Amino acid sequence: MNIIDLAIIGGGPAGLSAGIYAARADLSAVLFEQLMPGGLAASTETIENYPGFSEGVGGPELALAMVAQAERFGLEIVYAGVKNMTVSDGFFRVTTDDATYKAKAVIISSGAKPKLLGIMGEQRFQGRGVSYCATCDGALFRDKQVAVIGGGDSALEEAIFLAKFASKVFIIHRRKEFRASKYVQQKVANHEKIEFLLERIPVEIKGEKNVESISLKNIVTNEAENLQIDGVFVYVGYTPSVELIKELIELDENGYVITDDNMATNVPGLFVAGDLRRKMLRQVVTAAADGAIAAVSAEKYLEGLD
Ligand code: NAP
Repeated sequence: MNIIDLAIIGGGPAGLSAGIYAARADLSAVLFEQLMPGGLAASTETIENYPGFSEGVGGPELALAMVAQAERFGLEIVYAGVKNMTVSDGFFRVTTDDATYKAKAVIISSGAKPKLLGIMGEQRFQGRGVSYCATCDGALFRDKQVAVIGGGDSALEEAIFLAKFASKVFIIHRRKEFRASKYVQQKVANHEKIEFLLERIPVEIKGEKNVESISLKNIVTNEAENLQIDGVFVYVGYTPSVELIKELIELDENGYVITDDNMATNVPGLFVAGDLRRKMLRQVVTAAADGAIAAVSAEKYLEGLD
């Protein structure tokens, strides 16, 4: 069995930042990432508000730079999903498909995953017009009409990205007010290819083989509407990825992990950083800050064990 100081589970900005700090502190740390590093940031076309990049930075580019920086300091990255984690005798046993690691401390930075709309046709047309990642799939909709569902930063920013390819982008939102920042709202409001359909609730995604239309309910008039589109991009928020730890630690009423200011949980040696924490602001910069704090907290915890 591999015995290590620190296991970092999840390779988004929180985990990579934790990895950079842990490696610089000379801890024997392993970061586990099941897909590609960078988390949600890596599937964002451009990040405009991460300090240090006056013209913005591509999400994949920022993710790769974080990986290179972590590896330069000697962080070991294992590309495998963690299937299970148990705690006993003061150790955390972290199991992947291939191996089990015995860690003295753990940072969970597994982020959040897109919420589904939960309407008819959504699952059936996944990969055939329904998508949760404009950066991944946007180019498939060149000169086509697409709908974006949601009224937060993700929906509005990704609508702007999709408008590079699509002939028309409809933003369908259930209210008149948006959660998105004023800055993004203004950018969208003046965009010639983007049209708002407000106070509408998506009811069903329809088509034969691929998406052909979406039916909506207008909540002001109560009328049903049908919109011809080729793609539906769903941005209705995220669900914290807490599967590994939900039996172990305290969650709030929305399923986010409760930590203290030092990213500590109610389990000694178990820290949580990034989007799965209960907090006010979920951004790349706050994820990176969480990761740094969690790594230093883990270091202090490990010093206390000696
Ligand atoms: P969000 O802020 O939670 O917004 C989700 C949107 O989806 C809301 O407008 C919500 O409507 C709508 N919605 C939720 N469930 C729905 C349903 N079943 N049917 C129809 N609409 C539904 O999610 P997000 O935009 O993904 O952002 C998540 C976090 O990441 C936020 O903290 C955001 O600021 C941050 N973020 C930041 C940036 C940036 O700063 N550049 C970029 C992307 C994301 P209601 O408003 O009516 O609830």
